[in-house]
Amino acid sequence: MSTDLVVRNIGELLVVDDAGLGRVHDAAVVIAGGRVAFAGPARELGATLDVNVRQIDAHGALVTPGLVEPHAHPIFAGSRAAEFAERARGATYAEIQAAGGGILSTVRATRAAGDDVLVEGTLRRLDRFLLNGVTLAEAKSGYALDPDGELRLLRLLQAARARHPVDLSPTLLMHVPPPDADRTEYVRQFVSHTIPAAAPLCEALDVYCDVGAFTIDETRRLLEAGRATGLLLRVHAEQFTHTGAADLAAELGARSVEHLEQLGPDAPARLARAGTVCNLLPGAALTLKLPWPDARRMIAAGCRVALGTDCNPGSSHTESLPLMMSLACMQMGMTIEEAWLGVTREAARAVGRADAGTLRPGARGDLVVWQTDDHREVVQRYGTPLVGTVIVGGQAVSGPGS
Ligand SMILES: [Zn+2]
Repeated sequence: MSTDLVVRNIGELLVVDDAGLGRVHDAAVVIAGGRVAFAGPARELGATLDVNVRQIDAHGALVTPGLVEPHAHPIFAGSRAAEFAERARGATYAEIQAAGGGILSTVRATRAAGDDVLVEGTLRRLDRFLLNGVTLAEAKSGYALDPDGELRLLRLLQAARARHPVDLSPTLLMHVPPPDADRTEYVRQFVSHTIPAAAPLCEALDVYCDVGAFTIDETRRLLEAGRATGLLLRVHAEQFTHTGAADLAAELGARSVEHLEQLGPDAPARLARAGTVCNLLPGAALTLKLPWPDARRMIAAGCRVALGTDCNPGSSHTESLPLMMSLACMQMGMTIEEAWLGVTREAARAVGRADAGTLRPGARGDLVVWQTDDHREVVQRYGTPLVGTVIVGGQAVSGPGS
């Protein structure tokens, strides 16, 4: 197999594998056929490389796997900046809803937007994910609500995926029942028709279980329909109120549970046994002034913990996964090593792509060359862009060398 790229002169290489984080100094990475062929000490590389192979000199910098975003809502239209301003002035969620804000304002704008507007908006968000070191992102529908509109958003996510170096893992999100709908009929429609129709267009089904969204009984019916079609299962669980949705997720073998600010006492052990990844979203807790998810309790119980931006127009409008690592360490008691695993190995597990978030041989040739030589600084220097060159499948797609 021909070599695509050699990255030399790496000061610190973060190798992520089943054992955890490994650090190698004076390292090199070789990518062949779009995949990692070698990642380790430069002295083991040998001198047999073709001199014509494309090379990047990292000048002693930190190199890591491309980051994996496990939870994002990147396809929507409209702006909720006015709502953010009202919130900053002290308005409550109920006041914002009464003024026409909240999820339903994004639903109105998304339904009214043309396909090209929605795809372009998604592509620009993927540009910003790339500038933050992300090379693979989960991507939820969820701002159309009606069956045909949700299928349209999944098709548009596939269109965006075909046009951008950031790879996507699309998810059908059951966000909230439309206010004008007969709830029973709406759930029945998705169970019998829409979820099976969506299955070829996505990899997972996510149900928002909370006050104002779906009940625990509705969530079970929808998830069972998703499981029957072979989709991975996710649940927005225990964010505003404790519903027992995390226990349901563990029982059904869900791939991930999201938020978990109000997690019950026994759920962590059940989630750990089920291998369900806890996708923690510090940006939503920060924006909505919710209690921080108790990451230490989950980790102590043996849970897998990943970190996501929750990128969405209302409760967490950001594409910065490095900032989420900073918040996790500064506010949630996570260690720097746990934060890095949360945006690499554990996020890849949540998304269902074992070949991402790692540099073992055969993994995707996705790398980030950082503007620092120390992985701890990426977390410490919060809000500061430190991504240098991003490489996807052995090609430099952003930053110097692209
Ligand atoms: Zn979300």
